Amino acid sequence: MDSASAPSSKIATDPRLGPLLQAIADRRDDLIALTQDLIRIPTLNPPGENYRLICEYLDTRLRKSGFDTEFIRAFGTPGDCEAYPRWNIVARRQGAHPGPCVHFNSHTDVVEVGSGWTQDPFGGALKDGLIYGRGACDMKGGLAASIIAAEAFVATFPDHAGAVEISGTADEESGGYGGVAYLAEKGYFSPDRVQHVIIPEPLQKDRICLGHRGGWWAEIETFGEIAHGSMPFLGDCAVRHMGAVIDAFETTLYTAMAARHTDMPVVPEGARSSTMNINSIHGGQAERPLDSTALPSHCVPDSCRIVIDRRFLIEESLDGVRDEVTGLLDGLKANRPKFDYALRELNHVLPSMTDRDAPVVQTVARQIAAVMGRAPEYVASPGSYDQKHIDRIGRLKNCIAYGPGLLELAHKPDEYVGVDDMMDSVAVMARSLAELLLPAPDATPTPD
Ligand SMILES: [Zn+2]
Repeated sequence: MDSASAPSSKIATDPRLGPLLQAIADRRDDLIALTQDLIRIPTLNPPGENYRLICEYLDTRLRKSGFDTEFIRAFGTPGDCEAYPRWNIVARRQGAHPGPCVHFNSHTDVVEVGSGWTQDPFGGALKDGLIYGRGACDMKGGLAASIIAAEAFVATFPDHAGAVEISGTADEESGGYGGVAYLAEKGYFSPDRVQHVIIPEPLQKDRICLGHRGGWWAEIETFGEIAHGSMPFLGDCAVRHMGAVIDAFETTLYTAMAARHTDMPVVPEGARSSTMNINSIHGGQAERPLDSTALPSHCVPDSCRIVIDRRFLIEESLDGVRDEVTGLLDGLKANRPKFDYALRELNHVLPSMTDRDAPVVQTVARQIAAVMGRAPEYVASPGSYDQKHIDRIGRLKNCIAYGPGLLELAHKPDEYVGVDDMMDSVAVMARSLAELLLPAPDATPTPD
């Protein structure tokens, strides 16, 4: 769709956009090669491999395009060690005039490969317009799209206002503590340094992701008393106590959670209610390997543990979520003979939600309309991503996720990203830079 057919955006009819759109079209092969190169650096997390290598790759590339770069290692964060250092890169291109800073943040890590692949997960094969590999959609395709958009923009408008930043950060797949959280603590996302943040996660080229639900993770242990398995009445079975916990969840907690609905536009629809996954359960002796020929000894288990993964809505409070679970456990302690428990909180993340009228939302919405010919869909994510750190630690509210790729493919075998989808996202990103970092097209030039 050409720029003239989207009257909702002033920038859509800006004649200065012609050279920018040409610069994007000229970079199609470069976009493909860049995406392939990024996929071919296996940045598996855990354990956190090749972060330095991918930062060096981005450093070489972005310095050639006129960016200043900084390497930042997140010393002392979870997983950071000499074998697997948590390296991050922040690249900045300062414009010729004062103005806001637009920051594209992508995580460089990918999750384990898993089974079921028919393509080389680190081959980056291009087939029928799709590029395959672990991280193709989540989110090296988005990183590549933002780089091409920024490069096309600064090459076309070297005298732009403000600044363009691109960061490649570690550890998003394991919580972002060695990546965006660390950078936010060091001031890289402070509102006086950065004004607009776009995270090119694979939310689809025509959707704007405003935020995400919260999460609370805890381990619950029930206790018992060891005894001979032939005389369980002489001991106390921790697994049966855990059965009572799960029964209380089934009869009380799950029905209460299912009845709660959020106004957040979470996709898929099922995630508009509160949810809880029981991540693992283990009681008694260490589990036997499946191929073991050894027989277990006969003991009443004195400990049983589960890990729960409770996702909560912006309408719920973290304290309320906690109290609901501990209330059930305390009820069992009061009423069930010999019941005792321990609860260890593992982690929590608060929900994050950017206003629809925030400047970055409005800008990207106008440019999606101009490129795609239809208004964007607004969504929120069931799971969290690095927006939580930019919001809570960085105190920056003007942040969205927008990028190419289908969320459903993330972490799956034969993950891919479409070249045409990336090209459309590049256009949206570059045009958003033009809207935010060029003077208004109808601004009257000031006489000297
Ligand atoms: Zn991701």
